[in-house]
Amino acid sequence: MPGYELWSDKERKEVNDVLETGILMRYGFDGPRKGIWKSKELEEAICNTFGCKYAQLTSSGTAALTTAMSALGIGYGDEVITPSFTFVASFEAILSVGAVPVLVDVDDTLTLSPDAVRNAITPQTKAVMPVHMCGSMADMDELIAICNEHDLFLLEDACQSIGATYKGKHLGTIGDAGTFSFDFVKTMTCAEGGVVMTNNEDLYSKSDGYTDHGHDHKGADRGADLHPFIGYNYRISELHAAVGLAQIRRLQEFLAIQKKNNALLKNILAEVPEISFRRVPDPAGDSGSFISWFLPTAEITKAVVTEMKAQGILPGNFYWFDNNWHYIRKWDHLKNSTTLNALHPDLKAQVIQHATKDFSVSDAIMSRCISTSISLLWTEEQIKEKGEKMVAVIKKVLCAAKIAG
Ligand SMILES: *Cc1c(COP(=O)(O)O)cnc(C)c1O
Repeated sequence: MPGYELWSDKERKEVNDVLETGILMRYGFDGPRKGIWKSKELEEAICNTFGCKYAQLTSSGTAALTTAMSALGIGYGDEVITPSFTFVASFEAILSVGAVPVLVDVDDTLTLSPDAVRNAITPQTKAVMPVHMCGSMADMDELIAICNEHDLFLLEDACQSIGATYKGKHLGTIGDAGTFSFDFVKTMTCAEGGVVMTNNEDLYSKSDGYTDHGHDHKGADRGADLHPFIGYNYRISELHAAVGLAQIRRLQEFLAIQKKNNALLKNILAEVPEISFRRVPDPAGDSGSFISWFLPTAEITKAVVTEMKAQGILPGNFYWFDNNWHYIRKWDHLKNSTTLNALHPDLKAQVIQHATKDFSVSDAIMSRCISTSISLLWTEEQIKEKGEKMVAVIKKVLCAAKIAG
């Protein structure tokens, strides 16, 4: 998954260009910056690499989601449908614009179940936000059909799936808007950063203003810019953009290694007939950042996690069911709607209601799932050794379960 693993002179060079001029801000200072515009260059590279018309960099992926939702006009009284398995940032962004996060079940794609989405639609629903978790995709044709039928926005949280595609299109460029995160552990990194991608000029221009206090960026003089609406500061810095610029030029290299390492390890795991793999709606488009696999029961899965831990081979394997940050089960702060600032009592009640629904369908999937993250640094021998150790643990647990059962 992570581009930080291959940190190099190329990143250092781009950062150094910015350090030479000392102009660390992305706007203004036209003379002293001596033609160095890393953020603009990175936005252009994003449009060219992923095939979208517009890209607006932000200070984080969370800020990108918040920005996209604001540009879509999502706010008070609106509901946004999003999955029970994601990173907390997805619902944080919905809450930040005053809308209701309507969490619904995932299916064996580990992303939004289209049936669950259909069942959750109300007159208040404004958008569907699939989260392309762990390098692979939601069933986009189904979700597009639902959004068209019900006149809803489709906002893709593609923060974890940089470089993945669906039927030839990059994830994040298919819906009305899409976002990537460039935080430190994502496929390519800026250290911190994110982007809103869209083909809609109006959404872009609103995103552009929103991330910079509402500046319309129409004149040469920042002080004379107009503020057609209230914005915030979600700007990226030139230092961060410089890192991202070096990384995006290396993205194809990262993805090639990732896919190769993924396939090698997956082949070894596939020797165990009791293991099944996540359903991928377009297998050719999987970015390969994770292998997500299922065992027959929750008990067996937990025993495998325990045994991998005992043998010191758990790092890099994620049992989301027990994870504090990625799955509804441990989101007590959301279930209690514990915020530092007061929410409107109606919003608070709705947040609690949606977070405490029955998620047994998701539980049945997530309690049997382990995701193995793919390193770009592994050698073929290391992959073989890793795979064999994992298979030995799994076989041992399966064998014990058979005897006990
Ligand atoms: C990383 C991530 C985000 C947020 O990104 P940050 O840049 O860390 O704010 C949002 N959604 C998902 C699914 C993520 O994995």
